[in-house]
Amino acid sequence: MPVKQPGQHKNRTAAHTDTAFPVTPGAYVLAIRLARPVEITARGLPPASLLPSWYAYAGSDCGPGGLAARIRRHLAAEKRARWHVDALTLAAAEIEATAFSGHSECALLARLLDLDGATVALPGFGASDCRTCPAHLVALPGRPRLAPPS
Ligand SMILES: [Zn+2]
Repeated sequence: MPVKQPGQHKNRTAAHTDTAFPVTPGAYVLAIRLARPVEITARGLPPASLLPSWYAYAGSDCGPGGLAARIRRHLAAEKRARWHVDALTLAAAEIEATAFSGHSECALLARLLDLDGATVALPGFGASDCRTCPAHLVALPGRPRLAPPS
């Protein structure tokens, strides 16, 4: 069951509590529901509009705070926009995070693209440093269902 994060915007939930996120390196999936269109004006991408839908974003973190620190930032309702995905997390009507300790974001992206109805929402989005994925964001007809790591 998603757990409400105290002190955060209504409907901003995590698949686990903050303390449950690993401080180890790895990858994560953000499930984001947009209730209104979001204009994307990211460096390196043509201006685009993301329509209301569910989206899933695959990212990774190898920094000292590990996945816990990165996911906590993604779930924060207020922050300075830094990454492509910040435009979505700031506008999200719902957001959930799932950590995959030791996994690769590109492997998670491949699994997301295999979900029914998944499409590449915006080529290149979130994948500036990646040479293999079409983007690190997929659009989905419903809430992403990706089995947690076993
Ligand atoms: Zn990739």
